[in-house]
Amino acid sequence: MDNFSFCTPTRYVFGHEAECKAATLCHEAGWKHVMIVYGGQSAIRSGLLDRVRKSLGDTGITVTELGGVKPNPTDDKVYDGIALGREAGVDALLAVGGGSVIDTAKAIAAGILYEGDFWDFYCGKSTVEKVLPLGVILTIPAAGSEGSGNSVITRLDGLRKLSLRTDTELRPKFACLNPELTYTLPPYQTASGIADMMVHIMERYFTLTEGVEVTDRLCEGLLKAIIAEAPKVMAEPENYDARANIMWSGTLAHNGICGCGRREDWASHFIEHELSALYNVTHGAGLAVITPAWMSYVGERRPAKVAQFARRVFDVTENDDSKAAMEGIRLLREFFHSIGLPVSMKELGIENPDIEKLVGKLHENKGPKIGGYLSLEAKDTEAIFNLAR
Ligand code: NAP
Ligand code: FE
Repeated sequence: MDNFSFCTPTRYVFGHEAECKAATLCHEAGWKHVMIVYGGQSAIRSGLLDRVRKSLGDTGITVTELGGVKPNPTDDKVYDGIALGREAGVDALLAVGGGSVIDTAKAIAAGILYEGDFWDFYCGKSTVEKVLPLGVILTIPAAGSEGSGNSVITRLDGLRKLSLRTDTELRPKFACLNPELTYTLPPYQTASGIADMMVHIMERYFTLTEGVEVTDRLCEGLLKAIIAEAPKVMAEPENYDARANIMWSGTLAHNGICGCGRREDWASHFIEHELSALYNVTHGAGLAVITPAWMSYVGERRPAKVAQFARRVFDVTENDDSKAAMEGIRLLREFFHSIGLPVSMKELGIENPDIEKLVGKLHENKGPKIGGYLSLEAKDTEAIFNLAR
């Protein structure tokens, strides 16, 4: 096991009416003027936004609002938010939504106190030092941004989708998680969220670091539980316990606990980010396509951990590592299909992918080599995109 330092300072308030605690948490933190950041229509339609607005007002907190954040969020909204927040004099942010909303709020929280261009943080020109504090009311379990120190934004100029990773600076002060808020999710979003959280675990699981049985078992246990709960939420969208288990899994998948003491991979995410940047597909659905293709490629060259995944997560009994690995990948694809996800670019609606462009942008953005379990160069990532067709 490698040395590590792990700090997850976020307070999670989980369960029925969790969102009603947000105003009190803002008040207790001493926040006087909060910018609510939200997405398209879902939080308006459900009445959630009205309730949040009212509860902040009742607590004596001034509210400024920034709505209209779109999935695969772009830099234009961040610039709007920075300008609005500075003019209004906000001292904190409250994200009401999913990963796209939270990531936009994080970018604003960092950008507002920075004299330069916030994009400097995403392209590695500068590091985040000071941020406005941020709270979250989560409406979709998927990205895990409610517990992560990360934010992913797409720059419209050149469609560069880049992630900013911080240790603790961008971790929310609190996250309110009420599973009932996820009852209104369209099935495709529920399923895509499930794929995203599974791959957050798998990016950590596939490692060359040895002696990590505890985190291996944490990852495998979470994956098994998600696979068992997924059909329940798909069949019964208002099954509280199934929604609750999926919601908490999304947080545990990405708050860092599964990655302690081990080198992580992240190639599938980097490859997928090019798909969602160029074709604006749902991130989790893109991962359901890319990750099995990535596993096939690495499983042929380095089957051991893929075989372990197959045996421990999908109960494959095959003794030969290569055959076990391939059977595990088949079962993973079958699982994604069973919850309505695509497993090829064609099924994702990308009939003629521009693979040369995807590979070019990937390595321009991420450097000549990506991946921890198996180091991948352009010839490898090109092969993976082709396997995903
Ligand atoms: P999202 O993009 O925030 O939301 C997806 C869709 O779900 C939106 O159309 C939204 O509609 C809808 N929605 C959300 N909650 C709903 C509800 N309760 N009822 C009905 N519809 C609802 O989804 P996400 O998967 O959480 O975030 C994806 C983004 O996060 C991607 O850009 C991905 O790359 C990024 N990501 C970030 C991290 C990180 O650590 N920061 C990790 C992985 C991925 P409305 O707009 O109408 O609300
Ligand atoms: Fe993700």
